[in-house]
Amino acid sequence: MPNRIETEDADATRPVIVWFRKELRLADHEALTAAVRSGAPVLPLYIHDCETQGAVAPGGASRWWLHESLHALDTSLARFGGALVLRQGPTRDVLAEILRETNARALHAIHSYEPFGNQCETDAASLCGEHGAAFHLHQGRLLFAPEDVVKKDGRSYRVFTPFWKACLARPAPPAPNSVPSLTDFAHADGVALVDLKLQPTRPDWAGGLRATWTPGEHAAQAALTGFVDDGMGAYADRRNNLPGTPTSRLSPYLHFGEISPAQVWHTVRHAVEAEGGTTRRGAEAFLRELGWRDFSYHLLQAFPDMPTTPLKSEFARFPWREDEAALSAWQRGQTGYPVVDAAMRQLWQTGFMPGRARMVVASFLVKHLLLPWQEGEAWFWDTLVDADLANNAASWQWVAGCGADAAPYFRIFNPIIQSQKFDPGGDFIRTWVPELARLPSRDIHAPWDAPPAILAAADVLLGRTYPQPIVDHAAARARALRALESLK
Ligand code: FAD
Repeated sequence: MPNRIETEDADATRPVIVWFRKELRLADHEALTAAVRSGAPVLPLYIHDCETQGAVAPGGASRWWLHESLHALDTSLARFGGALVLRQGPTRDVLAEILRETNARALHAIHSYEPFGNQCETDAASLCGEHGAAFHLHQGRLLFAPEDVVKKDGRSYRVFTPFWKACLARPAPPAPNSVPSLTDFAHADGVALVDLKLQPTRPDWAGGLRATWTPGEHAAQAALTGFVDDGMGAYADRRNNLPGTPTSRLSPYLHFGEISPAQVWHTVRHAVEAEGGTTRRGAEAFLRELGWRDFSYHLLQAFPDMPTTPLKSEFARFPWREDEAALSAWQRGQTGYPVVDAAMRQLWQTGFMPGRARMVVASFLVKHLLLPWQEGEAWFWDTLVDADLANNAASWQWVAGCGADAAPYFRIFNPIIQSQKFDPGGDFIRTWVPELARLPSRDIHAPWDAPPAILAAADVLLGRTYPQPIVDHAAARARALRALESLK
């Protein structure tokens, strides 16, 4: 991305705006670093714009996180004598207003790869032109920019393995910057954080989120360090386990840009250099997962309709069912399949679910219940603290079999086998479905097959204390395969 800072108006009294969007951090923030380097007073700005975002405005859990994250960023800026200016309204109007009010000489932002973000950048470029301000976009959202990783024919990859191979053949992402020396701030009026009304009040359902997470840049660094020190060595072997925390849980921090992917990359690489063989396998498996994040964004850039439209066009004719009761049972964790219910309840209470569990519940929705993947995508959008347009859409399409490099639709997860394999002791189920907690491990995955005496001894009354399965696995599987046949 060209850096046009040196061609700018030399009037150092005019401020430079740093427009924070999803990069709510101070370290490794190219836009902030460039603004500071210009020598002008820095005006940190965040615009809350649900109006223009429409359907992709943050969901409930993301709004909770966003509030905390903005608070953390403002607190960090305050340590240097600055403050985050919060404004609310259509991005275009707010940008025009602030450029006029402050007579800013430049606007710096980190380049987005989402359709809404791209539109805002086009608007910002033209507004800056009108107001005599320079507009600078910087990298920082991804490890590798979509324009740098293309096939020989210039098009984007649709298959992950060659994509990742091409990424690894490129120079490593630039080493991260530390927090620039912040001394000179400009100030402007803004609204108070509470006025953005991001946090739930009536009722306040966010207790589980508060108990589980600490948003913000410092917590992100701590999560990364904790994972690299304690979890990365075993990541390759344990990442699919359902109980415990075998993965990094960095996804919300990455989504809100409280940590950059380059910071993650380089911390991991340094750990491998320091420790060598013992961590290398885990590190490679982990960075590969981070590669899926880049892949999702590259796909979204190439297919901006990905959140709504199947990449495999024949899936537009798929005979999805409408079944409010089944959808609601899935959302509430009342399907009668313990592993599915455990995961959906964990999601409701904590805003998170392990990656393996996401695959199991998503497969159950689209294959066992034959409900459209967009319904699941919308529920995740509202309930995940890491709800991310690119990752969510790409992953739902992957599970539904209609995406790029997707799991074939005919491969239907058996939720009982998944449960036995990835939660063999039943601990994940016991944590989130306490009404089954007293069942022995052998019976907890499929309580309907348990002998009546065992159910009675564990106080489980199927249909009363815990639901009967809402579909029979074998029948649902056969129905899903018939639906697939109908596409041919
Ligand atoms: P780790 O295993 O520690 O991985 C490290 C990082 O790599 C993650 O934080 C994430 O940024 C990235 N990553 C890992 N797996 C994937 C993947 N399959 N696709 C893209 N990036 C990946 N992830 C989101 O961040 N937001 C979503 O909205 C989202 N929705 C999903 C929906 C479905 C149906 C499925 C199957 C997966 C979804 N994922 C989503 C991907 C993945 O499940 C999560 O990123 C991961 O579980 C987060 O946990 P972690 O940070 O501990 O991951």
